[in-house]
Amino acid sequence: MKQFEVEAEQSGEQLTLRFSGFLNEEADFTQIPESQAQNVALNLEQLEGSNSLGLKKWISWITPVSQTAQITIEKAPPEIVNQMSILSGFVPKGAKVSSIFVPYYCDSCGHEENILFENGSGFVTGTAATKPGYRIDDRPCTQCGADAEADVLPEAYFKFLFQK
Ligand SMILES: [Zn+2]
Repeated sequence: MKQFEVEAEQSGEQLTLRFSGFLNEEADFTQIPESQAQNVALNLEQLEGSNSLGLKKWISWITPVSQTAQITIEKAPPEIVNQMSILSGFVPKGAKVSSIFVPYYCDSCGHEENILFENGSGFVTGTAATKPGYRIDDRPCTQCGADAEADVLPEAYFKFLFQK
C-alpha cells in the first residue's frame, strides 16, 4: 500500500494539489502548504483507496478549506467516486467536480478500463437554474472493438451529483 502523499503546485491564484497513495489514519495533511489561493484544484487520479479514518481526516481538512476557496475535484478514480456518493461532505458544499473516472467492462474479451467523464459531457452538476444529470453510453472496447459497458450502478455511482 503506497503512502499518502500530496504534491502542491502554486501558480497565481491557483493551487493544485495532486494526491496519491492510500487515504487512511496515517494520511498527513500538514504536508499541504498554507495558501491564500482562491482556487484549489484537487487531482485525485493517483489516490488508491481509503478507509473510514482516512475519510474522517479528509473531511476535517477539506471543510474549512472549502469555506475560503473554490474547490474543484478532478479525475476522481472509481474507489473515490464511490466514497463521494456514499459520504456526504467528501465533496464539500460549493465544490465543483470537473471530471471522474467510470469503470468499463467488455463482456467479449474481459478488458477493464476506466473512462474519464467530464462535467458537461458525461455528467452535469446542477446549478440554481438546471438539474444535475448523467449519461452513460456503451463505448467501443479499446482491445477488441466490441461494445463495453459501464460497470457501475448509475443511480448509486452518480449519487454525489444529487447531494444537497
Ligand atoms: Zn473487448
